[in-house]
Amino acid sequence: MSQINSLEGQVALVTGSSSGIGAGVALALAQAGAKVVVNYAHSTKGAEKIVSKIVSLGGEAIAVQADVSQEEQVKAMFHKAITTYETVDILVNNAGLQKDFSLVDMSLEAWNKVIGINLTGQFLCAREAVKEFIRRGIVPERSSALGKIICMSSVHETIPWAGHCNYAASKGGVMMLMKSMAQELAPQKIRVNSIAPGAIKTPINKEAWDTPEAEEKLLELIPYKRVGEPDDIGKAAVWLASDASDYVNGLTLFVDGGMTLYPGFAGNG
Ligand code: NAD
Repeated sequence: MSQINSLEGQVALVTGSSSGIGAGVALALAQAGAKVVVNYAHSTKGAEKIVSKIVSLGGEAIAVQADVSQEEQVKAMFHKAITTYETVDILVNNAGLQKDFSLVDMSLEAWNKVIGINLTGQFLCAREAVKEFIRRGIVPERSSALGKIICMSSVHETIPWAGHCNYAASKGGVMMLMKSMAQELAPQKIRVNSIAPGAIKTPINKEAWDTPEAEEKLLELIPYKRVGEPDDIGKAAVWLASDASDYVNGLTLFVDGGMTLYPGFAGNG
């Protein structure tokens, strides 16, 4: 009997996977049997480290540089992935960043940068992935779906975030991009879902957990009383990429230890 959560023979492209959550997702998908395209923007060293780790565990991976906000670079990345591994079955739209300012101090450049990478980058990569899914056609022995897209969102697709208007707007946009793509592409057997992480220990939010005082304060927002690890997101990504979730489409899966449960109301409001 074949394993329902196996990704054997499939090719996954994970954007921004030279560090943090993307690296955890790339490793988890490789451990489930996928060949992985490790995209990175700047850190060749970081990307090569993840590739070596996957290879040392018996998997296959390549590192491909591309800025996901640049149309031609995204096209070139998919071309490289397809010429190396023949196709792409799974896209994880993970690349993202924060540029935090109060609203009045936020430059148009800081706004555009965050929207350009966190939202437009997801559109550009999804468009290339879908073109490839359609070109390849369904391969039933690999997956019931023609292709799978996982968008890395955030609890801030639903929790407003003062001082981070550009970031929260980008993740709110990711939610509607994901749902609209899921609705449009479902008849073609393409599944599109999001993962909304809560607080995960990565470089993006280091100051929020790297001292005991900061971690204690952060835990006030997490009912489960544990800061997440990249592997928590990796396990969710394997499920969403595999046929184990074949009837799941247009979902945001919150992996947040309960951060979206209004913890401020836990003591009777
Ligand atoms: P991270 O900084 O370790 O990872 C972000 C990655 O994106 C980096 O590898 C970075 O190089 C890459 N990147 C940035 N700009 C890029 C570009 N133009 N093109 C390609 N790659 C680019 O932080 P992370 O926490 O691992 O973040 C990954 C994703 O998870 C982001 O979308 C982030 O918004 C989301 N997220 C993180 C948390 C958290 O608590 N860490 C919570 C919610 C959502």
